[in-house]
Amino acid sequence: MNNFFEIKNATFKVSGSEKVKNVSFSIKNEGDIVCLLGPSGIGKTTILRSIAGLEKISQGEIILKEKTLSSEKTHIEPEDRKIALSFQENSLFPHYTIEKNIKLSSRNSNRDQININELIKILNLENILNKFPHQISAGEAQRASLARSLNSNPDLLLLDEPLSNVDQSFKEEIQVKLKQILKKLKITTIIVTHDSYEAFYLGDKCGVILDKELKQFDDPYNVYHFPNSEKVVKFLNRGVLIPAKVTSPKSLENEDLGVITGNFVNPVEIGTNVKLLLQPEDLQHDDKSNLKFDVIDIKFRGTSFIYTLKTSSENLLPVFVHSHHVHQHEINDKFGIRKPIHIEHIVCF
Ligand code: ADP
Ligand code: MG
Repeated sequence: MNNFFEIKNATFKVSGSEKVKNVSFSIKNEGDIVCLLGPSGIGKTTILRSIAGLEKISQGEIILKEKTLSSEKTHIEPEDRKIALSFQENSLFPHYTIEKNIKLSSRNSNRDQININELIKILNLENILNKFPHQISAGEAQRASLARSLNSNPDLLLLDEPLSNVDQSFKEEIQVKLKQILKKLKITTIIVTHDSYEAFYLGDKCGVILDKELKQFDDPYNVYHFPNSEKVVKFLNRGVLIPAKVTSPKSLENEDLGVITGNFVNPVEIGTNVKLLLQPEDLQHDDKSNLKFDVIDIKFRGTSFIYTLKTSSENLLPVFVHSHHVHQHEINDKFGIRKPIHIEHIVCF
């Protein structure tokens, strides 16, 4: 079966200047969710605007349900695409109440439709229905825009940083509800976000955009555990790269940690000097170990602590410890690491 949605080798531009080049990815099944991650200014909004038909592409093809929407020769107008784009900034009509704004988008189609009252309840909009856009907060406006987009029942929904202004305490709850609604109604969605946890949670697939290209497009688990470049590691900021030498098909050695065993994700020739990806969950804490390093920073994350250790060769090692660990360590304490060290997936560059 063909892909539900596909971008083939597209180059996205704005005001004549190319922002993201040679992008290819597909959404196989209706109802799948793709999250695009990338730093601010990289061109994420430009991509969504182009998919919606608000910008033309300079190369490649955008295909939805086997119909070419954009190519060098074709450009279907936005209103003929059955694509809803929820803008990053507040795009509610200022002269209509929130209720009217949401209901305006109603569109009949043969797919299952969400009950509007249910949607208003889920997104906690009951108390602002009679207000005008200038009378509500940025987070409320985002939730109202989200309701409007969902109510429009599109073939493809594009959400541009939909929860960036929503309060942290409420954000996780909305993420859960949003995912439930999208999956229940099988709304195929592309979500742009700069929050990697949001992308990992919502996305069936995640794309990482860096340096004018789509660097990686994969399952969230793979993006986290098998980043395909140093740039992706640095962007996700969930681990460090330390120098090591490959000593066998299943081991390498680092001057501070000694022998590290594990499974190489990509085989590397013995004797090669590499940069080894070390993520917080790779090293295990052990008070009884004689392999000890100084604690220089402690981040309390609720369910866990991330300790940062400094080695004699000035490498900084992150270590995940469960919050219920029997005792805490302070900055400048010596902190033990369990030997032998085994890392399930060895990723190196
Ligand atoms: P992101 O959404 O990833 O933050 P954007 O797609 O909004 O990035 O923008 C990508 C780049 O294009 C930025 O450098 C931005 O300043 C520029 N840009 C966006 N819109 C316009 C425009 N209408 N005219 C000129 N430059 C623009
Ligand atoms: Mg943007």
